[in-house]
Amino acid sequence: MTADFRHFYQKNWDERVAIVAEQAHLTPAEQALFKQYYVPQHHEIIENYLTDYPLPMGLAVNFVIDGINRIVPMVTEEPSVIAAASNGAKIMKRGGGITTTLNQREMIGQVVLEKVSDPAAVAAMVTKHASTLLTVANEAHPSLEKRGGGARRIRPRVLGQGYLSIDLFVDVQEAMGANMLNSMLEAVSKAIAVMTKQDSLMSILSNYATASLVKAACDIPVELLQAGRYSGELVAQKIASASMVAHIDPYRAATHNKGIMNGIDAVAIASGNDWRALESGAHAYAVKNGQYRGMSRWMTNGKILHGELEMPLPVGIVGGSIKINELAQLNQRLLGVKSAGDLERIMVAVGLAQNLAALRALVTTGIQQGHMHLQLKTLAMAAGATDDELSTVLQRLELAPQQDLATTQRIITELRQ
Ligand code: NDP
Repeated sequence: MTADFRHFYQKNWDERVAIVAEQAHLTPAEQALFKQYYVPQHHEIIENYLTDYPLPMGLAVNFVIDGINRIVPMVTEEPSVIAAASNGAKIMKRGGGITTTLNQREMIGQVVLEKVSDPAAVAAMVTKHASTLLTVANEAHPSLEKRGGGARRIRPRVLGQGYLSIDLFVDVQEAMGANMLNSMLEAVSKAIAVMTKQDSLMSILSNYATASLVKAACDIPVELLQAGRYSGELVAQKIASASMVAHIDPYRAATHNKGIMNGIDAVAIASGNDWRALESGAHAYAVKNGQYRGMSRWMTNGKILHGELEMPLPVGIVGGSIKINELAQLNQRLLGVKSAGDLERIMVAVGLAQNLAALRALVTTGIQQGHMHLQLKTLAMAAGATDDELSTVLQRLELAPQQDLATTQRIITELRQ
């Protein structure tokens, strides 16, 4: 029988659990899991709330960013991410640390007009009345201007096929700014409709945050990169080659950038930020010149390995769910951030450290060696190993010709005989 999900959003929590239990034939123990992670206040955050979904949080260490020692809380379900970030940061620390550059922090929003027969004329009209439109924007969210932020400029962009985008640049101060900007854009959209007599198709912020770029760079003496039988100079050359491959091949670039985002997303989640917004902006920026490329670049002169990562990172330290997320607030204290810009600098540095560790492993021992210990642990736990059995199972699994679920289950069965 299929349970009745009509008006699910109007049901109280007990009713919701009962409906889900009926639908999926849940046991009392399974239903208890919902209760275990249930936080009543979270009904206010999302719709149809059932329970929380816990993820592991750990601390990456060894970061020296712009001369400041930082510890970095990271939330991730993936083994090796935190170890790799800490490892990359340690090498960079020995080389003098990571420096960052942040010139501008503005969010961009769009009012898109459609069926514009003379886009150049409408664009000119918008430009002429830019200061009126900026005032309209600021009046829609006056507290921002009082804090020293607010709408800064307007840029009409002809998109072709009768579409015109009117881009609004806003200094959102310490917030990520999506909601604030959207309110401003809706007000601007109405004013533009009256002014230009054109249909507005939509108004929404853009996640392609090209006015919120931040850059991390490091210089590492090559001898610090030595790994096993590979000299530091050779490792540096190989890292530079790996970086070149990510520059010319989108297949490699996607994975190169996934590694960077391993670190950045983990800090985004730990600090209560919207990681989907960062992901979409990052990948859009990675294809800015028409081909999808690795976001970082590594080069060497034989003595120094120089690395750089520039990307949009529009994050906030207030607003969104941060105001009701105590752990996100605590993590901001662990990070020692006083502004959204501080957080951006840390996140881009984490991305570069993550990338260095991944590339160094890839071009030397391979990525699996570092990954394997925690992967095997996860495998052993998934196969049902108890705490007491874990270390023996891991020892036998490391020696086994195949390291898969069936082998792990066989090892556990043998152990219990
Ligand atoms: P909020 O709507 O929470 O706005 C920011 C809040 O922070 C405001 O209430 C503001 O107060 C307050 N604030 C306090 N101090 C400051 C300060 N120093 N600087 C700036 N603001 C301050 O959040 P955002 O506008 O930042 O929007 C972020 C949320 O929007 C995220 O949760 C994101 O997931 C979501 N979102 C994302 C979209 C996207 O990425 N495409 C689309 C839509 C939503 P006051 O009101 O007094 O100004």
